[in-house]
Amino acid sequence: MNKDIPRIYLKKNKEESLKRFHPWIFTGAIARSDRPVNDGEIADIYTSDGQFIARGHCGAGSIAVRVLTFCQESLDLSWWKRRILTAYTLREQLGLTKNPDTDCYRLIHGEGDGLPGLVIDIYGRYAVVQAHSTGIYDALPLITEALVSCYGERLIAIYNKSEGTLPHALEIGCQDGCLWGVPAHSSVVFENGLRFEVNWREGQKTGFFIDQRENRSLVGHYASGRDVLNTFCYTGGFSVYALRGGARSVTSVDSSGKAIELAEHNVRLNFPEGVSHQGIATDAFDYLRAMNEDQFDLIILDPPAFAKHHRATANALNGYKRINAQAFRKIRKGGILFTFSCSQAINREQFRNAVFSAAAISGRNVRILHQLTQPADHPVNIYHPEGEYLKGLVLYVE
Ligand code: SAH
Repeated sequence: MNKDIPRIYLKKNKEESLKRFHPWIFTGAIARSDRPVNDGEIADIYTSDGQFIARGHCGAGSIAVRVLTFCQESLDLSWWKRRILTAYTLREQLGLTKNPDTDCYRLIHGEGDGLPGLVIDIYGRYAVVQAHSTGIYDALPLITEALVSCYGERLIAIYNKSEGTLPHALEIGCQDGCLWGVPAHSSVVFENGLRFEVNWREGQKTGFFIDQRENRSLVGHYASGRDVLNTFCYTGGFSVYALRGGARSVTSVDSSGKAIELAEHNVRLNFPEGVSHQGIATDAFDYLRAMNEDQFDLIILDPPAFAKHHRATANALNGYKRINAQAFRKIRKGGILFTFSCSQAINREQFRNAVFSAAAISGRNVRILHQLTQPADHPVNIYHPEGEYLKGLVLYVE
C-alpha cells in the first residue's frame, strides 16, 4: 500500500526542524516530489539524501505538509483510535472526562495532540469537530468512528463545524452539520458549576471559548464588591463568573448583538432571581473611549485575534496598545485589569511590551499579579511553540 504514497524530497539541510519534531513543512523547504500531490493527500517526506523522515497531509497553502507521524505507519482506523484514545487519556488525567461540574473541554487541540489541522471540543454528550485542512476533512469518517469507539454511549452526536475553517470548503463540498447521531445544534453545558448555552451551529468557533475556563475562575476570585466591565464578552463567560464571585455590577460589551443576547441569556440561566447585569451591543474601542473615568474597578479585555498573520503584527500591537491605554487611564485606583491576546502571530513578549507601552502612557503605577495562558486541555507541543497562543496578564493599577 505504501507504494501509492507520493514521496516528497526536501532541499538539502531543510530537515533540521523536522529532526526536532516540528510538524510543519513549508513550501520553500521542498525540492521535488516523485509525482504531483493533491491538497489533502497523505505523503511521505524524505531528506535530500533519501532518508524517510515523516508522513503527513499535503496542504495547498504555505504550509505544504502537516506531519502526523514520524514513523512509516498506516494512518488507518486503528491509528486514529490510538491517537484519540491518547488525547482522551490525558483529559481523563486532567479530571475533565467525568466531572459533573465541568462537562465541556477540548479533546483534540491540533498540533498539541499530534493532530495538526484538527480541533474537537466536547460539550456534554456532543462532540464538535473542526477541520482546518483538507486531509483532516477527508479523514472525518475515520475520526467519527474513532470518537464513537472511544466514548461509546456517552456520546449522542458529532457535529462538523468546518465550513468556516477549511481553506476550500465550498469546492470540496464541505457543509456544516451532523456527522453522526441525533441532529442537534445546541446544549446547556456546565463549567465549574455554572451553566452556559452553547450553540455550535450559530456560534463563533465551535460555539464556546473553552480556553478561558481557568482565567474566568480567577476573575470570579477577584470580583467581590467590584464594578466589572467585560469587553469582547461573547456569550458572557467572564460576566457570569464575576456575578457568582459577588460583583456589585457587571457590564458586558460586544459588537455582536447576538453575542449580547446570549450573554444575557446565560446570566439569566445562572441567576434567575435577577442580578445587576447590563449587556451593551457596541464597538469596544468606542465604548472604552467614551466611558467615564472611575466607573469600573475590574476590567476584562479579551479581543479576537487582531493578528491572524505575521504581516498584521504591527496593526495588532497598536490595537492592543489602544484598548489597554484606555483601560489604564480610566480604571479606578486599586483596580484590576485582565488583559488578553489570543493572536498566535504575537508572542508573549510582544504582547507584554504593548501593554507596557499602554501603562507608560497612562503614567499609573501598574504591577503584574498573574501571567495567564491556555488551560491544560489546550496543550502545547514543546516542538511547536506556535501552539501557545493565549496570553494574559492580571494587573493591579494604582
Ligand atoms: N471573552 C469571550 C471570548 C471573546 S471572543 C469569552 O470568554 O467567551 C471575541 C469577541 O469579540 C467576539 O464575541 C466578537 O463578536 C467580539 N468583537 C470583535 N470585534 C469587536 C469590537 N470591535 N468591539 C466589540 N466586540 C468585538
